[in-house]
Amino acid sequence: MSERARAVWNLWRIDSEIQQLESRITQLTSQLGDQVKVKAGDIAIRRAKDTVAKALSRQRDQEFELAQLEARIKELDTRLWSGKGTPRDLEMLRVELDRERTRRNGIEEQTLGAMEATERTQRDLARVEAAVAAAIASLQSGNVQRVAERTSATSRRDALAADRTALIQGMPPEDVEAYNRQRSKSSDGVPVAELTGSQCQGCRTDIPSGDAQRARRSEAPFPCPSCGRLLFIPNA
Ligand SMILES: [Zn+2]
Repeated sequence: MSERARAVWNLWRIDSEIQQLESRITQLTSQLGDQVKVKAGDIAIRRAKDTVAKALSRQRDQEFELAQLEARIKELDTRLWSGKGTPRDLEMLRVELDRERTRRNGIEEQTLGAMEATERTQRDLARVEAAVAAAIASLQSGNVQRVAERTSATSRRDALAADRTALIQGMPPEDVEAYNRQRSKSSDGVPVAELTGSQCQGCRTDIPSGDAQRARRSEAPFPCPSCGRLLFIPNA
């Protein structure tokens, strides 16, 4: 079983779980009562999450800049203390070191500010989530549980979507294309199938033994000659 075929199989595992979660989320949404209110809540939460993500990314940038400057200061300091060079060189080093240290004070301030900003956005998100949950729960009895299940299903779906993006980035584009093509072509929307012996479990067809061997050896995901699903060979 090649890495590429395994990646395709993992992609399907992620996608099938995302599909299940989405249909459960849709089901819960329709049970919650006021759809407009639920959707407005979703939008408010999504916005708050985006704000957190932006604040976090600004914080990371600041932290990176600070780490780079720390390294630069350390390097200048080592050079100055080594005492190598003319007095004029050393004097220039000292001036530069002073300048970089002053700059560091400013960047430290900014980094602290960025951290505080991130915490603020996280508190805002928690507030928005609680307010939305309370508003939706009040629409109908039994909603508290539905809201809780829907919130955890949504988080799980978002986490899987991030895993999916990371997985696809490491896959050859032609494999992703083959997967997507087969996904829209298959009658049941399943783009992969297990090969047991020489039988494709997608279409229950026995494939020629030469193809079964090729499927086992192939680097690229190998399609079933009968149904086109990409074959997965466990323990191989
Ligand atoms: Zn097949």
